[in-house]
Amino acid sequence: MTAPSERAAELCEVVRHFVETEAIPREDVAHIHDPVALDRTLAELRPIARAAGLYLPQMPEQYGGLGLSWIERAALLEEAGRSYLAPGAMNCAAPDQPNMISLLRSGTEAQKQVYLWPLANGDIRSCFAMTEPHPGAGSDPSMLKTTAVRSGDGWVINGHKWFITGAIGARFSIVLVQTAEGPTQFIVDVDNLGFNVVRAIRAMDPYAIGGHGEIELKDCFVSGDAVLGEVGKGLDYAQQRLEPARLSHCMRLMGRAARALELAQAYVNQRHSFGQRLAELQLVQAMVADCHIDLHASRLMTLDCAKRMDAGLSVKTQTAMTKVFVSEALNRVADRAAQMMGALGMSEDAPVSLILRELRSFRIYDGASELHRSTLGRRFLKLSASSSTA
Ligand SMILES: Cc1cc2nc3c(=O)[nH]c(=O)nc-3n(C[C@H](O)[C@H](O)[C@H](O)COP(=O)(O)OP(=O)(O)OC[C@H]3O[C@@H](n4cnc5c(N)ncnc54)[C@H](O)[C@@H]3O)c2cc1C
Repeated sequence: MTAPSERAAELCEVVRHFVETEAIPREDVAHIHDPVALDRTLAELRPIARAAGLYLPQMPEQYGGLGLSWIERAALLEEAGRSYLAPGAMNCAAPDQPNMISLLRSGTEAQKQVYLWPLANGDIRSCFAMTEPHPGAGSDPSMLKTTAVRSGDGWVINGHKWFITGAIGARFSIVLVQTAEGPTQFIVDVDNLGFNVVRAIRAMDPYAIGGHGEIELKDCFVSGDAVLGEVGKGLDYAQQRLEPARLSHCMRLMGRAARALELAQAYVNQRHSFGQRLAELQLVQAMVADCHIDLHASRLMTLDCAKRMDAGLSVKTQTAMTKVFVSEALNRVADRAAQMMGALGMSEDAPVSLILRELRSFRIYDGASELHRSTLGRRFLKLSASSSTA
């Protein structure tokens, strides 16, 4: 990707060097479904990323971040996303990244002291708990079954959450629950006796920082200060959080798919079959071309959203369209890359099969493709109906 400014171009070069010389050499299949091992490697990498001036690209400068525009961030996050280790090392990985933005936007001064600054400093990790098992909230957040009831000067929370990324080893969770006044976000310390991570779910993606936890909240008492923002506004905050969060996922995961393609291209350039290099076969050339077309279109859609965000425009429709297209296009890229590499592409001996596993889940989280399509379709048809009756 061409960097949008001189500063972003310089930073991208530093990120590429960091990824090639520090992050990729530390990638290890031993990290698969082992959040503790992953945390250990991230703790080793963070001081290196910080010393290289790459820490917190998403935060404003007054909070120790790089103060980049969205369009500059797009270039940087794609470079970082080539390795699953780099965004965590630069402290711009989900779910800490969107949690920092939520705390910055809606947190009280006291909440910022206790949660935001240690999070930004990399001293602690966090998670965001919205999804519940049946019959609770999944695609439809209005199905929330976890409740918070006022008790004295605080609240008592009861409920069940699952697939909560980052939960293993987190210091706190932002939890979305139902109250009499409507959905509300609470900050809950994981050492609260009523908050229990009952298991780590082995999802198909191999490298989630802090894994994916299943959580039981049982008579979990929190003080009134634990409310994040206003009571009853939790869903609005979740929506505000999701739009930039899913765009950042597009940026990082584009780097991952681009790396899978680089590896596949290197493979077909040197591997022979029936007397010629695979790269000379037109069917292979077509797969390479289709991957580049998917990546180019993904970048353009992502950059358009980034430009709109920098201009303060709404991206509600654009991020939904971009998320659907990019998540599906990146899956096509990684799938073709694995295909081009034959058996090696199916194995953990090369990162491509692991990248494919990582990317598959992106078609589900941050809104499944079908959910976005049905919402977008309804929205466009409503607009068309209102303009034809005007
Ligand atoms: C790797 C991973 C990480 C995750 N991390 C988190 C996290 O950190 N915090 C958190 O709270 N949650 C997290 N989730 C959960 C994720 O947000 C939910 O999986 C997602 O919202 C879908 O909910 P569900 O799984 O209950 O699917 P369901 O709501 O049961 O939907 C199942 C399928 O039905 C279809 N569908 C559903 N609704 C519609 C519709 N309206 N129109 C058309 N088709 C529809 C879709 O194909 C969908 O995939 C994560 C999930 C994964 C896989």
